[in-house]
Amino acid sequence: MFNKILIANRGEIALRVLRACRELGIQTVAVHSTADSEAMHVKLADESVCIGPPASRESYLNIHQIVAACEITGADAIHPGYGFLSENAKFAEILEAHNIAFIGPRAEHIRIMGDKIEAKRTALRLGIPVVPGSEGGVTDPDEAKKIAADIGYPVIIKAAAGGGGRGMKVAKSESELKTAFQTARSEAGAAFGDDAVYIEKYLAKPRHIEVQVVGDGQGNAIHLGERDCSLQRRHQKVWEEANSPALNSDAREKIGAICSNAVSEMGYGGAGTVEFLYENGEFYFIEMNTRLQVEHPVTEAITGIDLVHEQIRVASGGGLSVKQSEIEFQGHAIECRINAENARTFVPSPGTITHFHTPGGLGVRVDSGVYSGYRIPPYYDSLIGKLIVHGRNRVECLMRLRRALDEFVVDGIDTTLPLFRDLVSDKDIADGKYDIHWLENYLADD
Ligand code: ADP
Repeated sequence: MFNKILIANRGEIALRVLRACRELGIQTVAVHSTADSEAMHVKLADESVCIGPPASRESYLNIHQIVAACEITGADAIHPGYGFLSENAKFAEILEAHNIAFIGPRAEHIRIMGDKIEAKRTALRLGIPVVPGSEGGVTDPDEAKKIAADIGYPVIIKAAAGGGGRGMKVAKSESELKTAFQTARSEAGAAFGDDAVYIEKYLAKPRHIEVQVVGDGQGNAIHLGERDCSLQRRHQKVWEEANSPALNSDAREKIGAICSNAVSEMGYGGAGTVEFLYENGEFYFIEMNTRLQVEHPVTEAITGIDLVHEQIRVASGGGLSVKQSEIEFQGHAIECRINAENARTFVPSPGTITHFHTPGGLGVRVDSGVYSGYRIPPYYDSLIGKLIVHGRNRVECLMRLRRALDEFVVDGIDTTLPLFRDLVSDKDIADGKYDIHWLENYLADD
């Protein structure tokens, strides 16, 4: 087991990782930018190192500074959280060269899954169903036209290096294709420094369903069921639940087994998420994330398994703590992402939180790095916390969520709490009847 882990992240996830380390008796090192010296994870860590100015590329993305902080403090492993360096294959390689363990998969697996064209090819080879589309990248507009006609409109053009819902363009018909294709390429080039794009069938009303997997790097792997993340705004998840209201246990076991078999065949080590679109009873792979996800707590709620513990165990060579046959899915869990944004306009609202009161009681978990008097810096992601509620079934979960949302107080800034207070009482939500476009339509009608 590791003695000391450096947490190369900030905000709620840095605190989340710190808690797991505490439970396992592992010392922690927080790294932070000058804008984050008052952050909760910095206050709670055993040691902290300032790694640079506010801009992420000079601090949380600064590999030299982070490796130096590791060497100064004698940390033997780094947990990257999500975002920042968590899916940076080069970072994993550099750590290996410095004899520092990376709490995540091997660089080659990060690299394969980081290139969506390569990821799709790999998924296909491993028996995972994929969205019909181009075989590989497309550079020529005439070729794009031919492929789109073969697939049938509407189609979506996606950046190979895409992430965070960026670099995607839909073409409803041939007349829209040329512009969509060119825009997607130039946006991808500008955003990711790589203008490779591919084309796939645009699914009209799918749900977003993803499967949580963990592999030990030695060919053993488990799946921890699925999460339904269909409630999205601008391709960004807003509300996540487990299990999906759309799946029964047969479908769950079937897609879960496909994913865990694929992960075991790859020799994948670490936590990962295989993302699908789900329409008319069929799963279509879209990508695999090779890190812990924001929404991992809903899976923890229904399985009782601490995913960060598993990540740490696996990275230290200790293997998985559970076998597939020991995993049971109990009850239902929902997570709301609380952002420092106006709930109607979604304009970011940094500033000082004058009062912060979190809900409690049975089945309620709040993961957040903020507190009363905390000043939210304007430089980073607007996520300030996550409310995760668990109940014996979906009805109880919704009832508890409504109560917990009422108790939640965040004064001094705008948050997305009012949106969740509306959603939790909506009929479609109560019925579990929503697809990936539902939230955008709901917001447009408002
Ligand atoms: P990113 O890595 O940027 O998050 P994804 O490939 O995971 O990109 O897609 C993000 C979201 O975009 C999906 O959850 C879905 O809402 C939408 N999307 C992606 N591919 C398709 C598709 N083929 N048809 C319809 N919607 C899609």
